Formats: sequence, C-alpha cells, structure tokens
Amino acid sequence: MADKIPGFDTLAIHAGAAPDPATGARITPIYQTTAYVFEDVKHAADLFALRAFGNIYTRIMNPTQAVLEAKTAALEGGTAALAVASGHAAQVLVFHTMMQPGDEFVAVRQLYGGSINQFSHSFKSFGWHVVWADAEDMNSIEKALSPKTKAIFIESIANPGGRVTDIAAVAKIARKAGVPLIVDNTLATPYLCKPIEHGANIVVHSLTKFMGGHGNSMGGIIVDAGNFDWSKSGRYPLLSEPNESYHGLKLHETFGGIAFAIAARVLGLRDLGPAIAPLNAFLILTGMETLGLRMQRHCDNTLKVAEWLKQQPQVTWVNYAGLKDDKHYALHQRYCPKGAGAVLTFGLKGGYDAGVKVVSSAKLLSHLANIGDTRSLIIHPASTTHSQLSAEQLRQAGAGPDVVRLSVGIEDVSDIIADLAQAIA
Ligand SMILES: *Cc1c(COP(=O)(O)O)cnc(C)c1O
Repeated sequence: MADKIPGFDTLAIHAGAAPDPATGARITPIYQTTAYVFEDVKHAADLFALRAFGNIYTRIMNPTQAVLEAKTAALEGGTAALAVASGHAAQVLVFHTMMQPGDEFVAVRQLYGGSINQFSHSFKSFGWHVVWADAEDMNSIEKALSPKTKAIFIESIANPGGRVTDIAAVAKIARKAGVPLIVDNTLATPYLCKPIEHGANIVVHSLTKFMGGHGNSMGGIIVDAGNFDWSKSGRYPLLSEPNESYHGLKLHETFGGIAFAIAARVLGLRDLGPAIAPLNAFLILTGMETLGLRMQRHCDNTLKVAEWLKQQPQVTWVNYAGLKDDKHYALHQRYCPKGAGAVLTFGLKGGYDAGVKVVSSAKLLSHLANIGDTRSLIIHPASTTHSQLSAEQLRQAGAGPDVVRLSVGIEDVSDIIADLAQAIA
C-alpha cells in the first residue's frame, strides 16, 4: 500500500503540500512576505552561491509558490518546475534560458494568438527568430530546422482550432536534431495529456486557464522533464558554461536533471523579474485540487455542445477533436483519450457579422477573452484575440471571419445549450 503510486486526483490534492510546520495550518498558507531571515552569515552566503537551496527574496522564490511548483511537477511527471506571473512570462523565461541573440526556434502556426504575437514581434528585440512550420505536416517542421535552431515549440491541444498535435512525431524530429521540444499544455492540462510521456523536454502552461480554473488569477509555469542533455552540443551556454554571476558555476553539471528549472529561476526570473504573487499561487493551488473533476465535466459538456451544434442549420462546421468524424479524432484517442478539452470552434453561415451577432446575444455565456473558467465563455476571435493578425495568419491559426470560439464551462449542459440556441436563433 505504502508503495502504491498515488493516482492523479490524490496527487492534485496532496502532492507538494503538507501541514504548515510552523503553525499546523492544513492548507498551504499565503506566505505574504518579501524576504526571509537568514540563519547566519554562512547560511546567507551559501544561499546566494547556490550551495544550499532556500528562500532569499520573493522575486526568486516563495513557499506558497514552491508548493504550486512541486504539485505541477508531480502531475506532469517532471523533475522540477518554476511558477511565474503569467503563461507569457513562462515562455519568455524558457527561451531566455536556451537562446542567444541570433538564434532561431521552430514553432508551429497553430498556436494561441498571443504566442504568435510574442514570437513574431517582441522576441525580435531579444534577437530570437521564429521560423514557422505546420503542425499537420512533419516535413515542414524538418524543413524549418537550421544549424541555428535551438528548440521546437508546439501546443498539445491547439487554441483556438481544437486540434491535437502528434507530440511523439515532433519529439522524434527534435531528438534527431538535438534540440529540446517545448510543449504548451495549457488546453489539455496533465489530466488529459502528459507531454513528457510522449517525449517533451519542457512543458509550459498558462495557469490562468484550466489549471487555476476559476478565472481569478494570472500565472504561468515551466516544467523541466529532466531528460535533455544541455551540455552535449555546447549550444546552450547558459546551462553548460561557467556562469560569471555564480562564481563560475556550471548549472547543468551541478544540477543535472533539474538544471533547466534552476537556470530559469536563478538567471531568468532573477534578472527579468516576472514573479508570481503569493496570493495568485494560493488561488491556483486551490483550483488545482479539483482539476480532474473539473476537466472531466468540461470535456463531457463540450462533447455534448459540439454534437448539438452539428445539428444546427445555421452552423456550417464544428471543429472538435472529440467528434468521431473530426480529422483529429484519432490523435485525440491517442494523446488525450479522456476528453478533447473544453475549447471548440464553429462556423456560422452568416460569416463575420453573424459571429459578432451571436457573441452579442449570449446571456449565460460571457463574452470575453479568456478560456478555462468554470463558466462558459464565448468569443469571436477575428474581431478580438486574433484581430492583430493578417487574413492569412487568421486562416492558418484557425480563426477565420466566421469562426466563433467557445470555452465550455461546468454549468448544467442543458443551460449552456439553451443559451446558444437563443443566441444562434
Ligand atoms: C492564455 C494562453 C497563454 C498565455 O498565458 P497568460 O497566462 O495569458 O500569459 C499561452 N498559451 C496558451 C495556449 C494560452 O491559452
């Protein structure tokens, strides 16, 4: 019994957490403090030199955040994690840890609109260049590789197209090229899919979405799979070379399978600064305790909504990998058999204007730019989240003018369908 590996729902509640040693508080406290008293001068010096692990200053770590990190690492099957202020901050720190100015990375076009913007525009000022490929075409990923490529970036289930990526096939390409595979697992969560089991080296999340699950706090996290050799090629100097700001310490040599998570913390987070607030870490932790329950209900509701939408004469198509005739159904069965997530898109006969009309007519469904809340959310990407993209980028991202996106909540599904019925009518 003692040796039984706990199941997902047990880990979601217990992993990383224990009664507070100082007070006996059963729930992880919100450690609302900026700094921590050192035991003595030697302890302080050891902490600063990374000879010992411990709390120094909340920009770098905090005990509430540490529980969130341990829990997420356990759920994803990683060795360590680093929680930060948002999903986008997590992405910046991941690339900061592996890229040098002038380097390239390959990303598939089927991504969250914010990631497309971040990669195409803001990353340029760091000298990091994205080369786009197509998640449906493994040849396009191989062709996008060059000697300057440092990583490949995909989403497990892609937002907003509702497609499932063949993670193992991309992992194979990454392994052959000697570069890490980064998987954004925001839409799937580890309840539906564990990318590390399929060959991912780094997993990132926007905790803002299903992981926190209640639409109340921003957060992001980086999970280190501990399965990439950062020293082998000499192409990841932050990890393999002596670090001047730590007396010549070589991070990968010293920390092995948790080196990436450590480097992202003690270099990226320390110097760029997007720390997660302790209150947000607490709220996300509370949400994560019910991740399994919520995700299953989200997926069950979404399948029913998708099946209903398909019957409606005003609806031209429905994109949801959970539908048996969807072109991603086989990948859904392989990578996330418990459900295809809670985000789907559908097309309306009336195009752009009909999309605007439906989102304006919804009552129970909230019209807003988010996903992964307990409540159902609706948006017309072409006029909102994806409005900065060109017509061609819109099409490639699965966000054309007639597309409406739903993030199906955990309300009674009959009420969700009733609201959609009146909005579409
Ligand atoms: C929201 C989102 C992000 C960005 O996360 P923030 O917490 O909003 O910064 C990244 N990837 C995906 C798939 C998302 O849905």
